[in-house]
Amino acid sequence: MSLRLYDTAARAVREFTPLRAGQASVYVCGLTVQGPPHVGHVRSALAFDVLRRWLAHSGLEVTYVRNVTDIDDKILAKAEAAGVPWWAWAYTNELAVTRAYDVLGVLPPTYEPRATGHVPDMVELMQRLVERGHAYAVDGDVYFDVRSFPGYGALTGQKLEDLQPAADTGTEERKRDPRDFALWKAHKPGEPGTASWATPWGRGRPGWHLECSAMAGRYLGPEFDIHGGGLDLRFPHHENEQAQSRAAGDGFARYWLHNGWVTLGGEKMSKSLGNTALVDEVVQRVRPVELRYYLVTPHYRSTIEFTDAALAEAGAAYRRLESFVKRAAERVGASVGVVGQVDDGGKAEPAPDFTAAMDDDLGTPAAVAVVHEVVREGNTALAEGDDDAVAGALGSVRAMLGVLGLDPLDPHWTAAGADDGLARATDGLVALALEQRQAARARKDYAAADAIRDRLAALGVQVEDTPQGPRWELSR
Ligand SMILES: [Zn+2]
Repeated sequence: MSLRLYDTAARAVREFTPLRAGQASVYVCGLTVQGPPHVGHVRSALAFDVLRRWLAHSGLEVTYVRNVTDIDDKILAKAEAAGVPWWAWAYTNELAVTRAYDVLGVLPPTYEPRATGHVPDMVELMQRLVERGHAYAVDGDVYFDVRSFPGYGALTGQKLEDLQPAADTGTEERKRDPRDFALWKAHKPGEPGTASWATPWGRGRPGWHLECSAMAGRYLGPEFDIHGGGLDLRFPHHENEQAQSRAAGDGFARYWLHNGWVTLGGEKMSKSLGNTALVDEVVQRVRPVELRYYLVTPHYRSTIEFTDAALAEAGAAYRRLESFVKRAAERVGASVGVVGQVDDGGKAEPAPDFTAAMDDDLGTPAAVAVVHEVVREGNTALAEGDDDAVAGALGSVRAMLGVLGLDPLDPHWTAAGADDGLARATDGLVALALEQRQAARARKDYAAADAIRDRLAALGVQVEDTPQGPRWELSR
């Protein structure tokens, strides 16, 4: 294992050494299901999907947990405004989030716990914190006592005296210190009764930070390898998660990874700022695989400024890779690039430079550049009719794109097309037109053959004649 990762807590690149040999345990903060997901929301899932695929490719057995925050202030407020039960609001949006992940090829997590299903774990964690003198209850609220834990601030390199009061409004007079944060919130009059659970301190509901500590512990044990999330979660959310778990005696995460933001108009894409691009809308304009390429090609820690021009450019770049893979597969057979199913007995592997780039803190920009380089060589081999070189390039390109979740021949992407009735009809109709064109040529009626080709071109179907027969693709 020669993977190195930028650990936000250490503020340095560190060699990745798993806690248990041959295994990797990863916890990533999932979404608060208060609305349909936008492009900024799914970037985190995509960034950590690539991490997970790379860990698995490197030979590790990966346990990957991503939670669903299905109870919080915003869910309660939005559900009330919409006149529906909070749990119906949360579940509707959870389905939308799952659909967006699926459409973009994000692998389902090993476990996907919901906060509301883990209240007993949270109560147990709070009891440990109270017993150890790190938490206290006031009128049904439970707070973490930040001054009781010397490590508070360590994750983000902040000193306690420099920290601002925690953002729980209206609780100042209840707390021992304004920087103490809520582990648990007492049920308030006017809130739905279904949004509260019994605890030794009265009925109430979880604070956001507590749930991740409880769920990480439940599924990954007291100590695990990697905790991931968006950059904006570092403080207070992750600082508080680490404080809760470590104060309770757990080792918690050994590496912290944070992905950068997606901005629109220079500002972080956010519902509250109103500058969002919903995933559902964007995938009406571009194919999901092209949106995925656009979001996973930049380094995961960089900021992506979302623009239509950059999205179109990414789509064109992806189509160059896709075009090679399809042509090469037609020439030498698709199975050559399927890792583990290669009929020549060898296993197609990424190019060494790709591996080096990915091992260097998931350096996707350099890794994708290697894919393009191998595709250029593959295209030359195709033009020269060097089938051995074509097969070698195809295997390598598919192995590399597979790690990024972008292999055009992966059933996820091909099945998406095959399931689509419109795409199937288009394929059939173009094939029919091309058969008519071939028939016209066979009887030397070149005017009719050219007319068919021109009609197709006018419809955006570009036809190219190759030694294997006519090929077509949609010009976008
Ligand atoms: Zn979390």
